[in-house]
Parts: sequence; C-alpha cells; structure tokens
Amino acid sequence: MLAPTVLTIAGFDPSGGAGIIADLRTLTAFGCASAAAITSLTVQNAKGIHGARHQTAATVREQVMAIVAESPIAAVKTGMLPTLEIVREVARLLREEELPPPVVDPVLRSTSGYELMETDAIEMLLTELMPLARVITPNIPEAETLTGLPIENEEGMRAASHRLREMGARAVLIKGGHLKQRSEVRGQRAEKAGATLQAIDVLDDGGLVTVFRGEWIDSPPVRGTGCMLSAAIAACLGLGMDLQASVSAAKRFVADAIRYAPGLGPDPVTLELTEVTAFEK
Ligand code: PLP
Repeated sequence: MLAPTVLTIAGFDPSGGAGIIADLRTLTAFGCASAAAITSLTVQNAKGIHGARHQTAATVREQVMAIVAESPIAAVKTGMLPTLEIVREVARLLREEELPPPVVDPVLRSTSGYELMETDAIEMLLTELMPLARVITPNIPEAETLTGLPIENEEGMRAASHRLREMGARAVLIKGGHLKQRSEVRGQRAEKAGATLQAIDVLDDGGLVTVFRGEWIDSPPVRGTGCMLSAAIAACLGLGMDLQASVSAAKRFVADAIRYAPGLGPDPVTLELTEVTAFEK
C-alpha cells in the first residue's frame, strides 16, 4: 500500500522548531508522504521572530496546484495563514480542488508575542475556512480571540468549543496547555495535594464531547507543539482513522516529543524504539 500524501499549507521557520519543518518531521514519523506549500517565509530561531515575508495568494495557489497535479491528497492541514488574501485563496483551493476537509490550526501569535496573522484575516478564517475544516485546533488564547469568551477552566473550554461550532465549525479541539500557567499567575496552586497535574484537551465533534486528560509533563516550553499536533491529526486522518482516535494518537505523539525533546528528559539513545514511537498505526 502506498503511503498517503498529506499536504501542509503553513509558514516556514528556518530554525526548524515550528511550521513546515515540524509538520514534515511529524508526517514522516507517522509513515505518511508529505507535500508542503509555504505561506510565509519567516526569519526566526528559538529566541524569537525577526520578520516574515508573506507569500501572495498567487504563489500559494501555484504551489498547491503543482502538488495536486501530481498526487492524490489524503489529508490537509493548515498552519500560519498570514493574510486575508491567503486565507481566501486556500478556502477557494480546498473547494475547487475538492481536497479533504483540513485540520485548521489557527496560528495567531508566536509564543514570543509576534503576530503571525493579520486581524482582517482572522475574520476570513472564521467565515470562509472554518466551515470547510474537519476540525479547528485553537489553544486557549486563540479560542478566546476567536470567540470573545474568557476561558478559565474546563467548563470554559467546553463553552468556547460549543460557540465555535455555532459559528460554523464541524469539530473543535481546544488545547488546554495554557490553563496551568494561568492558575499559577493567579497565585493558585495548579496541583491539588497528591493529585497528578493533567493536561486537558476538549474535543467537540458535532456535539459529541470528549475530554482528553493527559499527564502534565513539567518541562521548559517546547516549540512547535501546536504544529506537530495538527500535523499528527492530519496524518492519522490520512491513514483512515476517525477523528477521536486521531486526536488521541496525536496527543501521545506530542507528549513523547515534549518528553524526549533535545536537551530535556532521558537520552533518546537509551530508549527502546517502542517507547519513542508509541502511537497507533
Ligand atoms: N512560526 C511558524 C511558521 C509557526 O507556524 C508557528 C506556530 O504555529 C510559530 C512560528 C510559533 O511557534 P512557537 O510559538 O511554538 O515558537
């Protein structure tokens, strides 16, 4: 059986921490073939972003058309879509080329605070792209910006995902990684006595809500985890898995990527291969 080809339409981070390079690493790990269309050439490294040369709608179209002319596309993910023109063009391409409903990662801002999407593009994402998506995967700050609802806890995550579905999304995955920092900022202990801290993600697929509770891995921030998660979900969808199983496998993949990030955790060389690649095919 040929490996399914997964297309990522996203930004290029030359340092490889986030964006298309993180996507390609992930797709390869899942045994998928990858294709990529660049929406913006950013200038950045682990310390921060210095600038970005956004592509035009025409150059994004040319890249995607060259890809779809050659191979059938099993799944799509979108990452950084910096301008209104690019969001509109990507929505058009998805419709005209009848591409699979994408995993849409609404990349708004880098961890370092750099705006990766212009304000008028956000509106276009909500009206044109979100209704085409199989799932949209905001983190908490992104879900707050998209809905205008404050999110303080799991209830807030459920409410925001419900709101995004009312706004036209078929399915929503809200990533709860930012909840811990918030409770710490408010001076509350994020950890209850004796209880293990959890990383909570809420998936609302057409009203069927699944709450994923993973172990919180205490580590310095690892870059590109949002990119990896959305690429991993697209890989699993491309392999024929349903959305819930795809999110579950993608979460385990990202948890391992955090656990075994270079410079953190145990030396990967000493690990058994089954531990490094603990995801379902
Ligand atoms: N650069 C690009 C091209 C991205 O797609 C993203 C996130 O999706 C980032 C930078 C920000 O990544 P991080 O905040 O994890 O460094």
